[in-house]
Amino acid sequence: MPFPTPTGARRGSVRLITVDLDDTVWPCAPVIQAAEQALYAWLGEQVPRLTERFDPEGLRAHRRALMLAQPEIAHDLTAVRRLSLRALLAELDYDVGLADLAVELFRRHRNRVEPFADVVPVLARLRESVCLVAVTNGNADVRETPLRDAFHRTVTAAEAGAAKPDPAVFELAMRWAGAAPAETLHVGDDPLRDVEAARRLGIGAVWVNRTGQPWPGELPPPLLAVRDLHELEAWLGTAQIDSSAGGAAPGAKPGATNAL
Ligand SMILES: [Mg+2]
Repeated sequence: MPFPTPTGARRGSVRLITVDLDDTVWPCAPVIQAAEQALYAWLGEQVPRLTERFDPEGLRAHRRALMLAQPEIAHDLTAVRRLSLRALLAELDYDVGLADLAVELFRRHRNRVEPFADVVPVLARLRESVCLVAVTNGNADVRETPLRDAFHRTVTAAEAGAAKPDPAVFELAMRWAGAAPAETLHVGDDPLRDVEAARRLGIGAVWVNRTGQPWPGELPPPLLAVRDLHELEAWLGTAQIDSSAGGAAPGAKPGATNAL
């Protein structure tokens, strides 16, 4: 899989940009909601005793309880969903193998994401000069989404063995790309799981704030805050990264939403 080598073109000192997926490059809630509905309708047809006993919230509560009981798999949402369904199917004397079909159906719907309008064109330009790695706590499979060609690689929490804000996904991405924290930017919507998690590793953290949320005052500010990836791209055009600095980096364009 081709990606820029250390001797290749760079944007300033940035060689690797890690990019969160849910609510950074596509809206998450509508697609999850649709996937949950499709799965519940299917369960109603295939295993009606289960849907008679559990409404969608009941199923969610069962998954949450499982995550608490088995924290070692809590970062792998697909594994949690499969185990939860297997337990319920067994309890109701259904074939537990149906859990695999259910998870597959959910997965297909989960991948029907629609990227924000800025995402495809900006990522296509960025990947010409930096290594782009998607890093996600979620269970979307990028290869089955409209962003299948946008990244050089994807690292999931399930693969890394821990969910953000744990450093595992970032460390795996940097190791794969051969990039140091000072050569890395992370771009994400979640102040704690994305911005603060990256900052603690010495990675320059860009907050994607599409909805005009206030920055949580208890956390150090991000390196940069942007409304969309166009603003990130404009900033990268001139920025030299100093990820040790808090707040807006020197050279940040006035157009970027640095005012928090
Ligand atoms: Mg997110």
